[in-house]
Amino acid sequence: VIAATANEPVRGEYLSRIAAGEIAAYAGTERGTGSNFWALESAAVAVAGGFRLKLRKSWATLAEVADLFIIPTRAHPDAEMTEISLFLVERREGVQAAEPWKGTGMRGSSSGPVDVDALVPRERLMGTPGRANDYITTDMFNLLLLAHAALYLGVAEEALKLAAARMVRRVFAHTGQALADHSLWQARIGALAAETRAAGALVQRTAVDVDAAYGGRTLSEDALAGKLCACGLARRATDAAMEIFGGSGYNRGERVELLWRDARAGSLMRPSDELTQMILGRLACGMAPFGSGG
Ligand SMILES: Cc1cc2nc3c(=O)[nH]c(=O)nc-3n(C[C@H](O)[C@H](O)[C@H](O)COP(=O)(O)OP(=O)(O)OC[C@H]3O[C@@H](n4cnc5c(N)ncnc54)[C@H](O)[C@@H]3O)c2cc1C
Repeated sequence: VIAATANEPVRGEYLSRIAAGEIAAYAGTERGTGSNFWALESAAVAVAGGFRLKLRKSWATLAEVADLFIIPTRAHPDAEMTEISLFLVERREGVQAAEPWKGTGMRGSSSGPVDVDALVPRERLMGTPGRANDYITTDMFNLLLLAHAALYLGVAEEALKLAAARMVRRVFAHTGQALADHSLWQARIGALAAETRAAGALVQRTAVDVDAAYGGRTLSEDALAGKLCACGLARRATDAAMEIFGGSGYNRGERVELLWRDARAGSLMRPSDELTQMILGRLACGMAPFGSGG
């Protein structure tokens, strides 16, 4: 985001700091609009030398440890909800991670609300005031979709690998047959394997396309489809793996249980599965991708 939107010297300074180890978080989501990330209620207020940001964001991954925060908010209090500006704010200027959040899964990273009460120098408004959605809903969105698609494709692949190995290992004493000998499970795993290959091919092709088109400010329908397919697949594959592991899968700390919990987050990461379907549906009908919802 900084590389794409900030001007020098801010761009160079902060990219160097991140390269040297400082951590940046993206604090975009707000309670009022939730998954509908292209519309925000909070607003920046212009003051001498810069802007005052006094707002709360409902989610930011790495909020507890981040040194820097990328914060989208309305350009000014009278702006439309889609007229958004991007700010780069340092934690020491007044960003606090609120109460710690205990996720059902993805415990390797911390995510949660942040409270911002900061005076931000004018030069750290990144890009054209009010026009951040030109980037957030296209190039940035494509990368986010692709990252989620690749992540949850990996979850699905790992779940399938674990499930297949378990099917071979689990042999019933009364028949001498393994789960892998049952056509019911062969077919179920086979169907998921086919879906995984299809999702993998889509994600790989989309990665190449998104890379080539980066900077062109267009939204990739393939990236939307890839995120939708991979996240749904991760939920189905981890659920099937849980079935195959039987009671032992329900053990806290079992790898398959961890994947099952992690997979749940994919479908709600923006855009949620429903919103992704709605955006794709709007595009299929020749409408603008982002509507007022409902
Ligand atoms: C672990 C985790 C990490 C996150 N990290 C970040 C981060 O680093 N930065 C960040 O900015 N955000 C982050 N988020 C936020 C995330 O990307 C989602 O935007 C957010 O969780 C969704 O908002 P919400 O919880 O208010 O859900 P809601 O928006 O209330 O959604 C609830 C349900 O309503 C549906 N819905 C929503 N809008 C509509 C509509 N218009 N029409 C029909 N149905 C609708 C959704 O599909 C969903 O099923 C994170 C979330 C989690 C769980």
